[in-house]
Amino acid sequence: MYFFDPHIHIASRTTDDLERMARSGCVAVGEPAFWMGYDRASAESFYDYFRQLTEWEPKRTANYGIRHYSWIGINAKEAENTAFAKEVIALLPEFLDKPEVLGVGEIGLHKCTKNEVATLLELIDLALGRGEQMLFHTPHLEDKYKGTRMILDLLRADPRVDRSRVCIDHCEEHTVRLALDEGFWAGITLYPLTKATPERTVDMVETYGAERILVNSSADWGPSDPLAVTAFIHAMRRRGYADSFIRRIVYDNPLAFFNQSRGFTFTPPA
Ligand SMILES: [Zn+2]
Repeated sequence: MYFFDPHIHIASRTTDDLERMARSGCVAVGEPAFWMGYDRASAESFYDYFRQLTEWEPKRTANYGIRHYSWIGINAKEAENTAFAKEVIALLPEFLDKPEVLGVGEIGLHKCTKNEVATLLELIDLALGRGEQMLFHTPHLEDKYKGTRMILDLLRADPRVDRSRVCIDHCEEHTVRLALDEGFWAGITLYPLTKATPERTVDMVETYGAERILVNSSADWGPSDPLAVTAFIHAMRRRGYADSFIRRIVYDNPLAFFNQSRGFTFTPPA
């Protein structure tokens, strides 16, 4: 079955991964700007990273017939130093104007500090001022519920926000409903250790339906699986779901969400 992985860090993956993804049916990926596993020393380092996401990685995935789209932003882990974050934010418009850039992301909260919130508000303002879609990273484990609530509070407070153009990512059982009930898209991340498993994700689909759900691997440089979306497809089939229904979640939904971005062009495979 053809599918999108709407959230994966291709910059951290090998060409072997790309080949396996292509053989498994992956036709498109969304790559949000994120933390690279270490804190960058300067804004120039972000500049080169944004070039990698918008110039180099699309070529690398194209060799395997996979379309590459990116999100540009500064992640919460590197947003604590607000002066540094301002320097990075000043770089964003140049990259947001590039083709195949979907919007501002992944942005959000990590430890939910005052400085993280200050940077996040600047990022949201930039995105809304330019009419960009937004992709939100929600914090890990013990901070997830609180961080998700804080992000939703910030978005609710700004009347310019069009919820149908915002994805709240890394949702789990205790947060997915918060995002969906308020009209946002909800991303569910399949991770081998933390976040959701394929079976738990099927449970969430059974509880909340398929509408506005995006399933992703968020595969990066840590323990993660670039074929995680196929594990979800397999788990859905085992649960008795028809491929036409599964396809809505792994193909039609990300296509519909991405399609709201100015920079998005896509020709469906024949
Ligand atoms: Zn990510």
